[in-house]
Amino acid sequence: MTEHVITPLVERRLEETQRLLINGHWQTASDGCTQSINNPSSGEIITTAAAATIEDASKAVAAARTSFDNHSWTGLTPAHRARVLWRVADLIEANAAEIAELEMLDAGKFYLGALNGEVPFAAECFRYYAGWCTKIEGTTKQLSIVPDQAFHIYTQREPIGVAALIIPWNGPLVQAAWKIAPALAAGCSVVVKPASQTPLSVTRLGELMIEAGVPDGVINIIPGSGSSIGRWLAEHPDVDKVSFTGSTEVGKQIIDSAKGNLKKITLELGGKSPVIVFDDADLELAIEGAAQAIFSSAGQVCVAGSRLYVQDTVYDQVVEGVADIARTLKVGPATNSAMDMGPLISLQHMQGVYRMVEAGLEEGARVVTGGNLLTDLGGYFMEPTVLADTSHDMSVVREEIFGPVLVTMPFGSNDDITTMANDSEFGLAASIWTRDVNKAHRMASAIRAGLVWINCHGIPDMAIPFGGYKQSGWGRENGYESLLQYTELKSVVARL
Ligand code: NAP
Ligand code: MG
Repeated sequence: MTEHVITPLVERRLEETQRLLINGHWQTASDGCTQSINNPSSGEIITTAAAATIEDASKAVAAARTSFDNHSWTGLTPAHRARVLWRVADLIEANAAEIAELEMLDAGKFYLGALNGEVPFAAECFRYYAGWCTKIEGTTKQLSIVPDQAFHIYTQREPIGVAALIIPWNGPLVQAAWKIAPALAAGCSVVVKPASQTPLSVTRLGELMIEAGVPDGVINIIPGSGSSIGRWLAEHPDVDKVSFTGSTEVGKQIIDSAKGNLKKITLELGGKSPVIVFDDADLELAIEGAAQAIFSSAGQVCVAGSRLYVQDTVYDQVVEGVADIARTLKVGPATNSAMDMGPLISLQHMQGVYRMVEAGLEEGARVVTGGNLLTDLGGYFMEPTVLADTSHDMSVVREEIFGPVLVTMPFGSNDDITTMANDSEFGLAASIWTRDVNKAHRMASAIRAGLVWINCHGIPDMAIPFGGYKQSGWGRENGYESLLQYTELKSVVARL
């Protein structure tokens, strides 16, 4: 049977209104307001969720502040905190089927993909940062210019304080884990704002975190409107740090909102990442890789390989190869495991993606394959789309589409492919496909992007710092680098 049958456990959960987690208590919104949550595979409303008000957000910040100032979390030993985060990972795994189902219904992820991908990845993220709890260190220093005096000088890392974590809809569980785990490992108290459209898996994660022993007030979860409570969190004088993943446009608004108390900011923003295929590449591998880079999650991936550059001698072969894969992909509900590509997140987003393609065609692009919405499938679907005859003055080449739309361009042996690849406001990721090791590493070094893959695309790992150059963001997630972004550095100078 290819159609996933919703389990009674999840059915029962969806019958209830999803609640807010504030100071260890699950509650409705202060004004009783709810929002409907729909399934992008069908367009149907599956449940309702409390929509936090400013009053709720205010209580959540106060709870986080109090728990931080009272050392509810930092007062525990690092080893104790590590065990709690490890237990969160165990609980995520113990409830993997349920969480995968929620991610499927809420965010349009395939069940098996979520079960074997997103869910264990989120669990491993908690394990990875559990390990860091006991390894946060300072250094000792020597004075370099003061003669004849004895000093003892050291640095120490301290948690930054209350962190507001603002999450997008395209990877609700993993994006939340990428922020919550390092923030808690560093000793922060957090207020999490999931995207309005996708609160379900993060709400479940909140329950598991309480069960694992995270003290009241250290984690608060308040789904609600970005333009109201998201903005308010970014402005709040008692919030010391905001970590945001989402669009570049909203990222810039966060910078404005945060300036009142100069809170520290991490921004993971959009991308328009190039996939560069040289004629000496393993073309079969490159064609599969390029198709995967743009069509996985229907292109709703910040590191999607959305600009394909192919050396002219093999351009037709590679573009036709990617188009052939696009033509064979089965598009349909994420609840059906026989499908290859699922839905876009919402009607509004689907229409936006379609308008971008239309604008490209008006500017002179040609459809190699796809280009149409699949409205008779019920939810929000679009054909995997490959465009040719595109150039750098077109909006389809310059702007992030965040859908299954690939633009393709040839380059000659004498063209500066580095200049073409770098001709973008964004600088999140890139992939390079060649058998020539020298060429690969020279290109990797010349590309202005935070992540470069060679003969692969989109490989994530907790150990790999993740983030963008240019308008793709500030700071890095994952790795020790992410942990540091939830800390302040103090230097202590003692005269002996
Ligand atoms: P978005 O509109 O920027 O929203 C992201 C989050 O910010 C949501 O929780 C949203 O709440 C909230 N928000 C909206 N306006 C806000 C404001 N003025 N102040 C504070 N928070 C606000 O992005 P999206 O449309 O959900 O996601 C798609 C974008 O995210 C794409 O551009 C993609 O590239 C980017 N993205 C980047 C990464 C990365 O790691 N670099 C990862 C994933 C996605 P609501 O849900 O209520 O609007
Ligand atoms: Mg939005």
